[in-house]
This record gives sequence, C-alpha cells and structure tokens, in this order.
Amino acid sequence: MSQDIYDLVVIGAGPGGYVAAIRAAQLGLRTACVEKDKTLGGTCLNVGCIPSKALLESSERFLGAEQHLAEHGVKVGKVELDLRTMMARKDKIVSQLTGGIAGLFRKHGVTSVRGTGHILAPGKVEVREAADAYTLETRNILIATGSTPSSLPGVTIDGDYVGTSTEALAYPEVPEHLIIIGAGVIGLELGSVWARLGSRVTILEYMPTLLPMLDEDLSTLAGKLFARQGLELVLGVKVTGTSRKEDRVTVEYIGKDGQPTGITGDRVLLAVGRKPNTAGLNAEAVGVKLDKRGCIIVDEHYATSVPGIFAIGDVIPGPMLAHKAEEEGIAAVEHIAAKAKQARSTGHVNYDAIPSVIYTHPEIATVGKSEAELKKAGVPYRKGKFPFAANGRARALGETDGFVKILAHKDTDRILGVQIIGPRASDLIAEAAVAMEFSASAEDLARSVHAHPTLAEAIKEAALDAGGRVIHL
Ligand code: FAD
Ligand code: NAD
Repeated sequence: MSQDIYDLVVIGAGPGGYVAAIRAAQLGLRTACVEKDKTLGGTCLNVGCIPSKALLESSERFLGAEQHLAEHGVKVGKVELDLRTMMARKDKIVSQLTGGIAGLFRKHGVTSVRGTGHILAPGKVEVREAADAYTLETRNILIATGSTPSSLPGVTIDGDYVGTSTEALAYPEVPEHLIIIGAGVIGLELGSVWARLGSRVTILEYMPTLLPMLDEDLSTLAGKLFARQGLELVLGVKVTGTSRKEDRVTVEYIGKDGQPTGITGDRVLLAVGRKPNTAGLNAEAVGVKLDKRGCIIVDEHYATSVPGIFAIGDVIPGPMLAHKAEEEGIAAVEHIAAKAKQARSTGHVNYDAIPSVIYTHPEIATVGKSEAELKKAGVPYRKGKFPFAANGRARALGETDGFVKILAHKDTDRILGVQIIGPRASDLIAEAAVAMEFSASAEDLARSVHAHPTLAEAIKEAALDAGGRVIHL
C-alpha cells in the first residue's frame, strides 16, 4: 500500500470520519479511511447513540407493557423481562449499521484501512496493525479520532463493577442498585434504561442543579419528572472515590453539608463527560496545536496549525454530537476539494442551529439559545409557550407532560431558540432547526399549516403565543 498516493486519509471511522470519507469520494478525492477498531462507525454506532437508543426503546416498551397498557384497555398477562433477547436485538442493530458502512465505503470507492493511524509528518500516515506497519502517502489528512470517557481521581474503572457507558450498555443482568456518577446526558439516558428494567438508580451530580446547560424551565420540569419515575438525584455532591468489596461497590463523596459519606450498590457507571482523543496519533509532535482541554485547535475550515492536516468532530471544540461531527466532516472535505480545484469553498456549519436531544422520557430537545443565554447577551426577546396537555394528539397518546417554548427577537421576530420537553421532542425539533437555518420568524411558523391532530401543532401554537395570539389555550 505504501506506493498509493491519496488525496485524503481520514483517521477514524466514526460519524465524523466515515461521512467525511464518503463525501470526499463523491467529490472525486482519492480517499482512504483508517480505523483501529474491528467495526466501522466509531463511538456512535458501536457504543453510543445507536445501542443506547435501542435499549431506551426496548426498556420503554417493557415499562409500557407493565404499567401503561391497562389504561388503554389492553390487558396482558404477567410481563417478563428477557434481557438476553433485548441485548441481542441491540447488538443486531449495531452490527447491521456498522456493516452497512463497510458497504457504503465499497459503493463510493473509499479504501477502508484497518489499523491505528500515526501521523509521521504532513502527508504521511503510518498504519500500525498488530506487528505490521506501513505508510500511506496523502495530500491531506483529516483527524476524526473522536473522544473517550473522562476519568475521575479515585474512581478505578475495572470494566465490570465500575465502568463507563460501554459497560452500562451491556450489563449481563439488571443491577439491583446502580450508582451513576454524573447527571448529564449519559447518566440520565442509561439511568432511565436500567430504572425501567427494575434497578434502583441513584445519580450523584457535582452541580447544584440538574442539566444546568438547559433552559431553566426545562431542567426544572425534567428534575420533577425524573424524580417521579424513581431516579434518585443527589445534587451538589463531590465524588472522591470508589472502593469494592466482593460484588459490592461503595462510592465515597462529600455531601451537600460538607461531610464525607458514601453509598453502596452493585454497579457504578462513571459518566462525567468525555475528552478528545489524540492518544497515539503523534499529532502534537508534528506541530498540531491543542487547547487547554486537549481539543485540536482548528480554523473556520477545520484546518489545524499544520498545513494539510484538518480535524473535525469530538476531537475539536464544541458539543460532542454525532450530527455536529458529520456536518463538520462534510464542510471540511468540501473545503479541501474546492482548494484542490481552486474553487470557492461551499462547506459551512451553522453552529447557531445545531439541535441537541436527550432521549429520556419525556424527550428533551433544544436548538439555539436559552432564555439565560439571551439575557446574558442582552438580546431583547419575547417568548411563546404551549403545553402538550392542550394538544389533542398528545392527549390521544396519553403523553401530556411538557411544553414547547419559542424565543424570538423582540424587534425582528427572528427565531433565536426553541426548547421542547415532551413526546417525540427528538423528531419535533427538526422543524425548529430548519426554520432557524432559513432565518425564519416566529410568525413564519405560526402561519405554516400543520396537520391536525399532530404533536407539531404545539410548535405552531407556541409560535402563535409568541405573537400574542395563541388559539387553544
Ligand atoms: P467517534 O465516533 O468517537 O469515532 C472516532 C473513531 O476513531 C473511533 O472509531 C476510534 O476507534 C477511531 N480512532 C481513534 N484513534 C484512532 C487512530 N489513531 N487510528 C485509527 N482510528 C482511530 N451523539 C448524538 O448526537 N446523539 C446521541 O444520541 C448520542 N448518544 C450517545 C450515547 C453514548 C453512550 C455515548 C458515549 C455518546 C453518544 N453520543 C451521541 C455522542 C456521539 O457518539 C459522538 O459525538 C460521536 O460519535 C462523535 O463522532 P466522531 O466521529 O467525532 O468520533
Ligand atoms: P455530560 O457533559 O453530558 O454530563 C456530565 C455530568 O457529570 C455533568 O452534569 C457534570 O456536572 C457531572 N460531573 C462532572 N464531574 C463530576 C463529578 N466529579 N462528580 C459528579 N458529577 C460530575 O457528559 P456525559 O453524560 O458523560 O456524556 C458525554 C458526551 O456524550 C456529552 O458531551 C454528550 O454530548 C454526548 N452524548 C450525547 C447524547 C445525546 O445526544 N443524546 C447521549 C449521550 C452522550
């Protein structure tokens, strides 16, 4: 392989890297994608977005069958959990999707290279696989090596009793008492899964409020609903370590009162964030600059401090989201291709319109600014709010918790932020993201025809409310 000269070598086949490789091939760039793991798809497909959503769906159906079918007049016998089948279903979905990427690479003519990528110099990527090592020559390198779970001093990951999200996606049996460190996205999603399947779940969180990055209205309601579902949320505490005795683990922490204390369970999930992954890449040695957090510093075209080396996704600053990584990958390679043809670059990511979803029950989805952010920036705004309790479809579904909130500029009416907590918020937020991408006003949404009865009518009503003319409230 050392005689091949590529236009682009992508390191990492997560959603950022594999999408970038396909787009590069579409643009006529001779492209190889180097991946160290056995399967393609990165964190997202193998141990992130996809398996977690499969388990969230299965566990919700289990809970629904156990607790909610009766109210629909559907009687079932004893509902039993078959965890092995639930896990096998999840694994099958993962392998179908990861295998699908291998097929997409073949279809688009991307060379898939198995091994660990190590940058020797601009234009030279050494691939190491077992005892083998060879060099790929390339005009451009795109680093898409993603992220790994952050650690915490005193907490020893043993990959079994004390683990990360990877272990929590594959526990062999339902933990009796699962202790989660960190009430972020992973803590709440995977905590929901295991609580629905019967675990006692305690979540220890450092911050005094739940999901502080969210609009306060959302986090307040979410906290109440999660507590109602039985998640024990212990806020404002500092975890100092873990200790294991046979099959029990104690998490030691400093309580709100400043006193050291502890809690004992049979599994611990550490979910205190993720860190950019540049281990073994040799990026810094060839001159690629990192920031204080270890993220690769890039310019608006995702170029690093070294000419010919680009970076995207979780390894650069910004929210760690699969769709953010994908869009950056596309923008980066469109820029690289344009440069090769001396044309104008078309790649662009609108960071003001990146939706973000927490797949709990109810789901929480946001795009754009929160009220606190607008207040801090001194931007005048008005808001419209509509509860799902007043939406016919939500009533028919029996899913009335939550609301849609729209924040629009006070003078121009341009939509600045949309927050949704409620049924299918993950799907509903797409309308808001598209509206924001097209610089729509709240009135644009309010005057768009929405089918009846749909959950999306709650968005229209919130937009009407922003203009002071809500109908169904
Ligand atoms: P990654 O997906 O991490 O891929 C990086 C790839 O690079 C990996 O395959 C790795 O093996 C490979 N690699 C690293 N170093 C090398 C090297 N030197 N040589 C060769 N290969 C290398 N995001 C969402 O948007 N929605 C969700 O619902 C969601 N759920 C999540 C659930 C969990 C439990 C977790 C952990 C994450 C979740 N995320 C979710 C986040 C999402 O997975 C990441 O934002 C996304 O995967 C980042 O994509 P990436 O391509 O930058 O990196
Ligand atoms: P996170 O940043 O969402 O949450 C980490 C939480 O841990 C925070 O609330 C933080 O205050 C808390 N914390 C930090 N240090 C602590 C300590 N010492 N003791 C107790 N709590 C502490 O991180 P995560 O949940 O690990 O997820 C990692 C990344 O993966 C996130 O950035 C997220 O974007 C991504 N992810 C996304 C989705 C999704 O889009 N649905 C799902 C899962 C993960």
